Amino acid sequence: MNTIVDLYQADGYQAKRVASTSGGEYAGPCPACGGEDRFHLWPETGRWWCRQCEKSGDAIQYLRDFRGMTFQSAKDYLGVDLPERPRAARPQTQPWTPPASTTPRDLWAGKAAAMVKWCADQLHSDAGAKAITYLTGRGLAREAIRAAGLGLIYPAICGGPVRTGALKVKSTWTGRAAASPGAFGFLRAW
Ligand SMILES: [Zn+2]
Repeated sequence: MNTIVDLYQADGYQAKRVASTSGGEYAGPCPACGGEDRFHLWPETGRWWCRQCEKSGDAIQYLRDFRGMTFQSAKDYLGVDLPERPRAARPQTQPWTPPASTTPRDLWAGKAAAMVKWCADQLHSDAGAKAITYLTGRGLAREAIRAAGLGLIYPAICGGPVRTGALKVKSTWTGRAAASPGAFGFLRAW
C-alpha cells in the first residue's frame, strides 16, 4: 500500500525528512499553495497538513483534494476497506395515534364538577361568611353570586396562592378563579 509520502512523491514533489519523531515527519511544497517546506506528511499515520493554507487530511483526502478523485475511487485506489457502519434500523414511520386514556374523562369531569359544587357550598356556609360579606360589599346580590356559580376556594385546596385566571386543581382545569384581597379566592365553573 502506498504511504502518504509515496502518493505525494508520485505527484512530482520532493519530500524531505525533517524529523524522526512519530515514525518520521516529511516536508515539501504544498500541492495547493506552493512554498518549499510548508506541507508536512506523517507516513506512519498517513496524515498531512499544510501550515500555510491549513488544508489537512489523510490519504483519501489527499487523493480527493489533489487528484480530484471521488471518495469511492480514492478508497478503491488505496485498496482501503473501510468497515461498513452498521446503519441504525430506522423505525417504521407510522401515523401517530394518541395513547388510550387511562383517566376516564367522565370521572375527571365529575370530580371537577363536585369540586366546583363543594366550593359553592363553602361560600354559602358559615365558612364563607367573610367572603359573602366581601362580595355583597362589592354590590353583588346573593342571588347573583349563586347564579354565577361562584365558590370559595382556599390556597390549601388548589395547591398554592389563589390567582386570577384559569384554575387548575389536581391536573384538571376546573374553572376560573378570581383572587380577593383576603386569603380566599373565588371559583366559578366554566
Ligand atoms: Zn498549502
